[in-house]
Amino acid sequence: MTTERARDMEIITRAARLQAVTSKFDEEAKPVGFVPTMGTLHEGHLSLVREARRMADAVIVSIFVNPAQFGQVEDYERYPRELARDADLLAPAGVDYIFAPPVEEIYPKGFSTWVEVRELSEKLEGVARPDHFRGVTTALTILFNLIHPKFAFMGQKDAQQTVIAKKLVRELHLPVEIVVMPTVRETDGLALSTKNQYLTADERQAAPVLYRALRRAEELFNEGERSAAKLSKAVRREVGAEPGAELDYLAITDGERLEPLDDLNDQLALISAAAFFGSTRLTDNIILNDEKFKNKTGRLKLG
Ligand code: AMP
Repeated sequence: MTTERARDMEIITRAARLQAVTSKFDEEAKPVGFVPTMGTLHEGHLSLVREARRMADAVIVSIFVNPAQFGQVEDYERYPRELARDADLLAPAGVDYIFAPPVEEIYPKGFSTWVEVRELSEKLEGVARPDHFRGVTTALTILFNLIHPKFAFMGQKDAQQTVIAKKLVRELHLPVEIVVMPTVRETDGLALSTKNQYLTADERQAAPVLYRALRRAEELFNEGERSAAKLSKAVRREVGAEPGAELDYLAITDGERLEPLDDLNDQLALISAAAFFGSTRLTDNIILNDEKFKNKTGRLKLG
């Protein structure tokens, strides 16, 4: 099975070839599961692929380091690229096609069409990264239009991205369902991220403080604390105790409009944070919710 899958997987680099493949899936009424990534894959990405395999008949993974979502040219250029290794991980996972286009295939010369989810894109991560989400939603729209997936799989690790993607598909009536999967973590709690490889040994030691601090807020919430100010103070205290960490922002918001909350009594709350470990900026988040906010599947619901 594994080897057969491995033999079957094709790496597509051209939009026209991808469209030929996806038109065939359309004709056969085969539901496609799509996992958008920037490559250099880890277990977090693979958890999305596994769910795609479970829910859809065909699985397409895009590997595209999207220049439009990077603020600094340097960050874009130094972002790791490991297509051969990624393909070795994806073939045995039952992926049918990798779409790994060159930049000009997505943004041909003279490209000038942008898709922007206003307001939501300006909050949280959008404060430090003003054009980031515009880049994400533009690339996602192009990919959705090329692939026509029934489901697109995204990680809660990038909670704001999932909320924005859901609004995008709702408002543009894109016929795709965004499926959000839980954050995969190292045993010490650090969320898996491609950026973790930028950390020095000391920074890596310090990095789990981010999730530890979010968990502290969750603990207090479970003990009955509902004041955002008090939870926020607890997170700040925990991160502040780690000299290797510098908090960039911390926000306690609702899970749909991403508006700050004072009181967590009546709704699901999202705590989002970013912190610097040396020059590497890591993000994480946690959802606080009473049982009553869980949906039937037990999945947490943002957006
Ligand atoms: P990226 O390649 O970083 O753009 O991520 C591609 C997808 O993988 C996004 O939907 C991310 O939210 C998701 N992802 C990244 N890290 C994790 C993780 N630790 N657990 C689950 N999903 C993740």
